[in-house]
Amino acid sequence: MPGEDEPMAEQSNTGLGLDYIMSLENVPTKLHPQLQIFNDAGVHTDTVQNSGAYALSEADNSVRIDSFRENFKVEVKRLTDSEMEFDIIGVDASIANAFRRILMSEVPTMAIERVYIANNTSVLKDEVLSHRLGLVPIRADPRLFEYPDNEGDDRNEKNTIVFGLHGRCEVKQSRIKVKSDKLKWLPNGSEFPSEDIKPNTASTKPKTFTSFSCSQDSLPEFSNDSIGLTYPDIILSKLGPGQEIELEAHAVKGIGKTHTKWSPVAPAWYRMLPEVVLLKDVVDEQAEELKDKCRPNVFDIEDIGKGKRRAKVARPRNCTVCRECIRGGKEWEDRVSLRRVKNHFIFTIESTGALPPEVLFAEAVKILEDKCQSVISELS
Ligand code: SF4
Repeated sequence: MPGEDEPMAEQSNTGLGLDYIMSLENVPTKLHPQLQIFNDAGVHTDTVQNSGAYALSEADNSVRIDSFRENFKVEVKRLTDSEMEFDIIGVDASIANAFRRILMSEVPTMAIERVYIANNTSVLKDEVLSHRLGLVPIRADPRLFEYPDNEGDDRNEKNTIVFGLHGRCEVKQSRIKVKSDKLKWLPNGSEFPSEDIKPNTASTKPKTFTSFSCSQDSLPEFSNDSIGLTYPDIILSKLGPGQEIELEAHAVKGIGKTHTKWSPVAPAWYRMLPEVVLLKDVVDEQAEELKDKCRPNVFDIEDIGKGKRRAKVARPRNCTVCRECIRGGKEWEDRVSLRRVKNHFIFTIESTGALPPEVLFAEAVKILEDKCQSVISELS
């Protein structure tokens, strides 16, 4: 046995030395050629400055500020109240991914964080009901609110939105649904007396769970019905005859990194622009077959005269890269090439309703800018 300070001899699991194994026949002494690193391959692949990342496919992946300024574009393709599809052109995948991650976890929203339950005789336990309430999207501009402190003792009109909910199913009534429209905004703050603080005998008004100095609807920023629920028809619970729920739900500002209920998107995603290339003419029956193979309708058929018809790529953006068009033998792989444009991203933002999707993207840009600024100031 070697002493404590002596290094162990190099051994395999079976107790045989590495030299012995390497001396055996048919033991490879170097990597398979396909696994070897080419001389022109990138060496610092963890940096975006690595221009060799796509060298083998003869693409220049270097990041240069002048080409970024020249090529960078944002084109909005579709915009509704809750959804936006737009193209980001001329950026690296790391930038597109940074926006996606910031949108999901760093752009703040308001969400229900504390629930004070006075009565709950429904079949849902208090914890489950509170969890459901937390996931109800709140329509309120988070930029108008401050973050609360962690202790939760400073709940005021600048950092808290209070909703009250009271639902009851009468004894002779049939079962009812309690939906999110039952949550009513209380602009004056909490109405429940706080149990852990004794009522001030000098005052007729007992202490509550918030200390609002004024009514929120008297503030100009909260006028015009600016606070409410995004969706009024989310089922929170069901009540049978004689059952009742009475509670207060307090919403505060937070970010998706803390809990997904604060995430303003549901969700945000991107894909690279597909590029479908026909390597050979695909004509007549084969053209029909190709068109039929593609359910997203990427191909059209054009008349090329003399009764002949040829397939052409008409809507490459529709391509989902299902690869159906190159199935059916090598001849199809030789006809169609499926590629991606590596610096063109089709981005989709689906907002949960706190802010419109175009505002969410603008907020994500500001957050990324702040991060870059803090890196610059750290380094300088
Ligand atoms: S990969 Fe699928 S969607 Fe794309 S062109 Fe081929 S069949 Fe159509």
